[in-house]
Amino acid sequence: MPDIKAVCVFCGASNNAPKEHLNIGTEFGNMLAKRGIRLVYGGGDCGVMGTVANAVLRNKGQVTGVFPMSLKNIESEHASLSEIIMVESMHERKRIMFERSDAIVVLPGGFGTMDEMFEIITWKQLEFHNKPVVIFNHLGYWDPLVALMENIIQKGFARHETRNLYKVVDSVEGAFHEISA
Ligand code: AMP
Repeated sequence: MPDIKAVCVFCGASNNAPKEHLNIGTEFGNMLAKRGIRLVYGGGDCGVMGTVANAVLRNKGQVTGVFPMSLKNIESEHASLSEIIMVESMHERKRIMFERSDAIVVLPGGFGTMDEMFEIITWKQLEFHNKPVVIFNHLGYWDPLVALMENIIQKGFARHETRNLYKVVDSVEGAFHEISA
C-alpha cells in the first residue's frame, strides 16, 4: 500500500454550483483530516475549493494552498491555511501542487478543474509520473466527460490503455480506496 501523506484536489471555485456538489467538498475534506492526509490545492476560499479546505481545517488537518499572485483580482486566497505558497503563474501552481502530493483527486468543477485534470492525465500518459488519479464522479456530474473520454478511446484518438491512467469513482470511500490501492 503506498504511503499517501498528501492528496492534491482539483475542484471548482464557483459558489454558484449546486449545494450537493459544494457539500461533497466538506465530506471529502472531513475524510482527509480523519486519515491525517494533507490537502494540497489551489488555495482559494470559494466553491468546492473553499468547502474542502474549510472541512480539513475545522478537523485540525493540514492544508497547503498554492495561489498565483496574478489571480488576486479574480479569485481570493484562503486567509487561514496551514501553509500558503504564492507563485507567479498558473503553470508554477500546477507544478507545485503535483510535486507536493502523492495522489490526485478531481471533485466537481469547471474549466479550470478540467485543465488541471487533463494536464495531470497527459503527464501520466507521457510517463512523467505514476501517481494515482481519481475522478470523483459525484452524482454523475462528470458523466458527459467520462463518455467523451470513452469516445476518444473508441475512435482511436487515445490508446485503450489510457483507461488505466485514471479511475472513476462515485463515493468518498471509493476515492480513498483507489488512492491507497
Ligand atoms: P474552475 O474549475 O474553473 O472553477 O477553476 C478551479 C481552479 O482552477 C481555480 O482556482 C482556477 O483559478 C484554476 N484554474 C483555471 N484555469 C487554470 C489553468 N489554466 N491552470 C491552472 N489552474 C487553473
